[in-house]
Amino acid sequence: MRDRLHQGIPLLLPSDFSPDWHQVPEVLEQVALWLAKDPSSSPEEGEKLKNISRNLPLLKRAVITWYRGRSLKALAKKQGVDDVLLASAIRATLKPFLSAYSKLLMPAVDQEIWRRNYCPICGGKPDFAYLDRERGARFLLCSQCDAEWLFLRLQCPYCGNQNQDGLAYFTDEEESYLYRLYVCEQCHTYIKAIDLRRTEAEVLLPLERVMTLDMDRQAQEKGYKPGWAI
Ligand SMILES: [Zn+2]
Ligand SMILES: [Zn+2]
Repeated sequence: MRDRLHQGIPLLLPSDFSPDWHQVPEVLEQVALWLAKDPSSSPEEGEKLKNISRNLPLLKRAVITWYRGRSLKALAKKQGVDDVLLASAIRATLKPFLSAYSKLLMPAVDQEIWRRNYCPICGGKPDFAYLDRERGARFLLCSQCDAEWLFLRLQCPYCGNQNQDGLAYFTDEEESYLYRLYVCEQCHTYIKAIDLRRTEAEVLLPLERVMTLDMDRQAQEKGYKPGWAI
């Protein structure tokens, strides 16, 4: 594991990832039911997702394709389902499996060795950050498995830009500077962050993503894209 970390290879490669294939279809079915409650979704799409959940070889192919970071377009087209919807359904389905792996593997990650812009466990992109209480060091949170890793404070976690002129952050006076919105002028992306030095309360990071949806709206109004999604 140490060798992999030194070489920048995530610990959970596609060949290492083996979720419980009896459970995955059940979770996808639940996700499909949950998506069907969204008034903007069409009932047919929910049915098509359920069909995929009932076809294990197809589901395995979709999961592995997604985990390898490859496009789901061809597979989705064949099933008559929107590829973005399929990708988000698979992302939601695999979250509990990936975060279980992440909890087990994280103690093996030496934070001083990694410092890359992708997750040391699953290779996913970060979608949230925090500044730690001790030093104000910036940690990133993986969009796929919730792993946390140390990263430079003044570097874009998406394009690697370190040019100070092209990096900025916005903070909110009303929230006592608790949240920050880091933006990059080079790749026009943003990442949300919470400054843990500004609160005594216990913070549940995965929940903070949802609590700060208003920041996503503000960032997108300013013309920035969520970096994890591109
Ligand atoms: Zn990850
Ligand atoms: Zn950038």
